[in-house]
Amino acid sequence: MKASLILSLCVCSLQAIAQKNALRTQVNTKADALQEQVITWRRDFHEHPELGNHEVRTSAIIAKHLQSLGIEVTTGIATTGVVGVLKGGHPGPVVALRADMDGLPVIERTPVPFASKVKTTYNGQEVGVMHACGHDSHMAILMAVAQVLSSMKADLHGTVKFIFQPAEEGVEPGQKGGAEQMVKEGVLENPKVDVVFGLHINSQTEVGKITYRPGGTMAGVNDMQIIVKGRSAHGAYPWSSVDPIVTSAQIINNLQTIVSRNINVTENPAVVTIGAIKGGNRSNIIPESVEMLGTLRSFTPADEKMLVTRVTEIATKTAEAQGATATVKIPYSNHYPVTYNDPELTQKMLPSLQQTAGAANVLLRPPVTGAEDFSFYQEKVPGLFIFLGGMPKGGDPLKAPSHHTPDFYIDESGFSLGVKALCNMTIDYMNNKR
Ligand SMILES: [Zn+2]
Ligand SMILES: [Zn+2]
Repeated sequence: MKASLILSLCVCSLQAIAQKNALRTQVNTKADALQEQVITWRRDFHEHPELGNHEVRTSAIIAKHLQSLGIEVTTGIATTGVVGVLKGGHPGPVVALRADMDGLPVIERTPVPFASKVKTTYNGQEVGVMHACGHDSHMAILMAVAQVLSSMKADLHGTVKFIFQPAEEGVEPGQKGGAEQMVKEGVLENPKVDVVFGLHINSQTEVGKITYRPGGTMAGVNDMQIIVKGRSAHGAYPWSSVDPIVTSAQIINNLQTIVSRNINVTENPAVVTIGAIKGGNRSNIIPESVEMLGTLRSFTPADEKMLVTRVTEIATKTAEAQGATATVKIPYSNHYPVTYNDPELTQKMLPSLQQTAGAANVLLRPPVTGAEDFSFYQEKVPGLFIFLGGMPKGGDPLKAPSHHTPDFYIDESGFSLGVKALCNMTIDYMNNKR
């Protein structure tokens, strides 16, 4: 290679590095300047939470903000969803960024002045409403990301799609909603999304830290119903019954062998839980049937398939051995795919996170057996879902109130890191594609 060519290549890559650093500095300065505004937005959402598919006030605030930035806005997707499209000054990939908008039927108990006092009815019951999972912070962070990126529009090599999604926590029986419905209504099309990024604040991870996991990050979920049918008899004459209660007890015990004997524990965990069992109504009647409800959690499609097969085999064969029958429905009413972080994408975006938070603050985390409907986007396009620290510095993760509880609390000082992380991942992804 000629010396002049080597020299010009060096100059070019030095220019690219300088340009990258300049963009990062711009993002960081703008994100820091917006921190107070992010807190104001978050507190307003926090004080006025809305349940899934009812995010009317919330989505109106978001739509208005995006419109004020000159972003192209569509509302009413999957009931209350809002999507904004920001076209950069140069052609390039379409990066989707997602925030969820719903609160939970929880009565708030935190002493903060902006605590929710909202009450509503849910499933026919009077309930409180609280942003007890931190979705208020996700919205506020993404609104700031939209503001930062739209101010840098001319420098963007691609398009950003801002997805504000309703009903992440699920909907009332009979309703449709959440990410699955957003995908069905075409949120990943027109323009076609190449990659999706999202974050979840975490009340048990210290502020300033980001945690991530390549591959299966949050569990795939199937709920299940098992109905065991036998023959009813007087409780004093069990020999004339086919006892569905004894049979159900055997099924529950046998199901424990799936995790202990079928799952390769060196690779991925799995969970088999029976959470409800209903049968009989008094001490001296053996009932005709028993209903059990439960949940299955896994981290790979192969494990998910195996759990379904083994539960079905164990339930039906154990029942058969007792002269009873078992009918198994999986999924019964709920299915979430695995929240799967594309390993190659995760690897590529890691430097971006490390430069944003400092390498020592970006930590590999164990898999989470909870679920996220972000997985419905990742089923269609490669995606990365990270966790953002929201626990006060020096806190004890075991004592910090967990998500979905009345005392759930978030330290707001971690928000600007979330804004920076989403902005920098978007810009770096676009620039790596050039
Ligand atoms: Zn939640
Ligand atoms: Zn959540």
